[in-house]
This record gives sequence, structure tokens and C-alpha cells, in this order.
Amino acid sequence: MSRGDVAVVGTGPNGLAAAVTMGRAGLTVDMYEAADTVGGGLRTQPLFDSEIGHDLCSAVHPLAAASRFFREFDLASRGVELLQPEIPYAHPFEDGRAALAFRDLDATCERLGADGPRWHRLMAPLMARSSHVVDLLLSGQRGVPPDMRAALLLLVRALAHGNRLTATARFTTDEGRALLTGVAAHAVGRLPSLGAAAVAMLLGHLAHVTGWGVPRGGSARIADAMAAEIAVNGGRIHTGVEIRSLTELRGHRVVLLDVSPRGFLSIAAESLPRSYARQLACFRYGPGAAKADFLLCEPVPWINPETARAGTVHLGGDQARLFRQETLTARGVPSDEPFVLVVDPASVDTSRIRGGKRPLWAYAHVPNGDTRDPVDLIRRSIERYAPGFGDTIVAAHGMPAAEYERYNPNYVGGDIGSGAMTLYQSLARPVPRFDPYRTPLPGVYMCSSSTPPGPGVHGMCGYLAARSVLRREYGYDGTPDLAPGTALSAW
Ligand SMILES: Cc1cc2nc3c(=O)[nH]c(=O)nc-3n(C[C@H](O)[C@H](O)[C@H](O)COP(=O)(O)OP(=O)(O)OC[C@H]3O[C@@H](n4cnc5c(N)ncnc54)[C@H](O)[C@@H]3O)c2cc1C
Repeated sequence: MSRGDVAVVGTGPNGLAAAVTMGRAGLTVDMYEAADTVGGGLRTQPLFDSEIGHDLCSAVHPLAAASRFFREFDLASRGVELLQPEIPYAHPFEDGRAALAFRDLDATCERLGADGPRWHRLMAPLMARSSHVVDLLLSGQRGVPPDMRAALLLLVRALAHGNRLTATARFTTDEGRALLTGVAAHAVGRLPSLGAAAVAMLLGHLAHVTGWGVPRGGSARIADAMAAEIAVNGGRIHTGVEIRSLTELRGHRVVLLDVSPRGFLSIAAESLPRSYARQLACFRYGPGAAKADFLLCEPVPWINPETARAGTVHLGGDQARLFRQETLTARGVPSDEPFVLVVDPASVDTSRIRGGKRPLWAYAHVPNGDTRDPVDLIRRSIERYAPGFGDTIVAAHGMPAAEYERYNPNYVGGDIGSGAMTLYQSLARPVPRFDPYRTPLPGVYMCSSSTPPGPGVHGMCGYLAARSVLRREYGYDGTPDLAPGTALSAW
């Protein structure tokens, strides 16, 4: 079998986005995936009941609804329905109160009391320039921002919410403080920080714009749609093939690697210049995620009943506790009360319920490499806000942070972001180079979430890496049309 023009190693959303983009530019692509199924962080599989799928990694998709790659790829017209919970995220307290972020900004502000006008002032300007804000934060992070007003809006807000002195003073209610801090915690690292504040602005305003969508049927539907597009353009996906050395990819003109710096080092160490290899070896990984999947016979019995209407639930107490917990976790100190994210996909997708049973997805932030089975840890956390939760559990499966790496080598020590989101690494990942995707090896590029703009299902690392390849290797300066049913780009 002749080899395609391009090899892509890894079929996570970034590898798939790179392959879609290269395929739409008329190049033939071979993808190599170590696991038996495509998708990387986009897999949905049965764990206990053959009819009930669980999202093994990502479950909620604010970025797939908003990023430039997915705006152009157009999931909806490819049959992927992002269902929108009326309440994208909730932050309950143990005493029965809950902070609620509604799709509707005004509804959110009404419920925030004294902090309502402050939430409005924070979010409304970002919403008014949303596509610029998204394109700036989900960019290659090199060069002058194309929209200075969006950059200024973000800078002012990141400075205000990114340090302890002012972050604690921006809101006065527990609800307002916790609502924003729970979103900042998605950065998985020390709190507060500039990087986490930027993440809070991105995800926080998207809740009121394109929403935090939950794909009908599970996250794998997104990977399936991307794999289908690759096949239409003549691409081939080889699953169950782990690439251990770049020499296995001889015959392809270009190689794109959806792997972490550690993975790159292991498959290319001998051929890499020493200084570049040293930089890759210095790449820092962040705290870990420890995941628990549950099969429930009833919805979670939240003390606050409105929490059941939320797609995502943040558990971790008030702002001061979140700051303390996340900072200790980032320093490697294990906690019995970590920050926990919970998603009940059936709250918005009843097709996930079979025979009265439903999946529940949850993960806790833990130190990198943590070996604890998280099932009990997470069960106890949920019980604090939903007493009786334990009685709804039919079956449970835990994935300690230390084991994630075996499931997916990109998640080093359970770091699901494939690299700490420190300010430095947000701007200079994987190494400080003007073109972060290009490597010193001719024709070899990186495209995983260890490159800018970093973690999440947005496809932008793959898309931007593919555009760099097209420009540098093929002299093509245009932008392939990704919309379904359009002709391949001619150049
Ligand atoms: C528990 C969890 C929850 C998450 N929740 C969300 C969420 O709700 N929303 C969201 O937007 N993001 C979420 N994320 C993050 C998101 O899944 C990742 O940021 C995203 O998947 C990264 O995409 P990627 O293409 O860079 O790499 P990955 O998705 O990690 O894929 C990399 C692929 O490359 C393969 N691979 C690696 N090395 C080799 C090799 N040598 N040979 C062959 N194949 C190889 C791996 O098997 C894997 O399939 C979550 C992640 C986890 C783990």
C-alpha cells in the first residue's frame, strides 16, 4: 500500500483537526492511533451496561461550539447535535444554596443579588466581541492580537481576577465569587493566576453565548464526524498502531504528531538536536485528574434541586477554599476534599438513559501522578451536596491520575492538559519558538494540546499546525474550506 503525503500520529481532536485540514487541502493522509478506537479525549464507551455509553474523557463542549476550526467544520450540519442545558454550570454549597450560570445573562444576574450588575459588567463586553475574544485566546499565541479591543478587555479582566488581592474584592457574595472561581479552576493549577483568569473569561462568557453543549449520544459523535470527513477525502486511519520511532513513518513527506513533548522525545530522541531535546525535557506537566464513572439508577439527589438542571456542576466550596485547594493540589499536596467536576449528560440528553439507568461523569483535581482510586473520594464529595447519592450508584469505575498515562500517553501523570497552564507555558508551549508547531526535524510538526492554544476540544492546535505545514512545506498560503460538501481547495 502506498503511503499518503502526510502521516498524523494520534487521533485526538487535534490530530483529527490536522487531518481534516490537510485532507481538505487535497493531500492524502494516513493516521496512526495506538488505541483500538479513534478519538483520544473524544471517546464514549460502555463500561457497565452495553447500551449505556460513558464519556471516558471530555463530556462538555464550550470550545467545540465556538472555536474557529469547529465554526468552519460545522458540527450541526454533520449531524452532531450539541444539546444546551438551560443552566450550563452550577456551583452548589453544602447548606443548600447554589450559584447558577444560566444561558441567559440577565437570568444569571437576577439570581446573583448584589453581584448581578458586576457579573453583567464583566461578561457583557466579552459577549459583544465574543468571536474576537475566542479567536484571540484560541490562537497560536504569537504575534500582535488582530483585535486590540478584545485584547484589552481580556487584559483588564485577567489582571483584576488573576491575583488574590483584587480577585477577592471583585464580587461580594459567596455565589458570585464561587461561580467565577469554579470556572477558573478548569485551568487545573494554582488559583488565582493570570492564566486561570483568562480561562474563566473564555469559558465564563461562552456560557452566555454559544453555551456549554453536551453532544447527543456522547463526545465520540464529534470524533466520528471528523473521521468521516477524513475518509471522504481519501484519508486512512490505522488503529491499534503505536508509533515508537519516526523511522516507522518513512515514505510520508510530512509528519504531524498529536503527542506530548515526552512522547516526541521517546520517538525521536536520537534525531533531535540536543538543545531542542533539552527544552522539550524541561516542559512542565500540571496537576492530574482522577476520574470516576458511575452508573446510577436515579438522578443525583442534589440538596438544591435546580442543580439537577445544570449540565456541569462544580464542587469545592467557597472561593477561599477553592483557592486553597487548587493551590495545594498544584504543589503536590493530596486533599480529601478536592475540586470535583460532575456532568450528568442525561440531564439534557434522555437518550443516555436506558432501563432507568444513567451515566454520571466526574473527576477530581489531584496532584500529578496521584495513585489513589478516586471512586470513594468523589462519592464522598458528591454526598456533601447530595446526601443519599451513594444509594443511587449501581456500579462505579475509577481511573487514578497515575493510570491515565497508560490509557493515553499524552496525559503524563494524569495531566489532562498535556502541560501545565502556567503563564509561561500558555504563551511558550511547547518550547519558545516563533512557529510553535514546527520542530527542527525537516517535515516534522507537533499538533497536540501541548502546543498553543493548549487543552480542550477546539481542534485549534491541529488546525494551526496543519496551516503551518501547508504554508511551509507546500507553499500554500490560503485557508482550506472546511464546510461540508464544498469542493477541495485548489492551489
Ligand atoms: C477526564 C478528562 C475530562 C476532560 N473534559 C473535557 C471537557 O469536558 N471538555 C473539553 O473541551 N476538554 C476536556 N478534556 C480535555 C480534552 O480531552 C483534551 O484537551 C483533548 O482531547 C486534547 O486533544 P489532543 O488531540 O491534543 O490529544 P488527545 O485527545 O489526548 O489524543 C492523543 C491521541 O494520540 C494517541 N497517541 C499518543 N501517542 C501515540 C503514539 N506514539 N502512537 C500512536 N498514537 C499515539 C493517543 O492514544 C490519543 O488517542 C478532558 C480530558 C480528560 C482526560
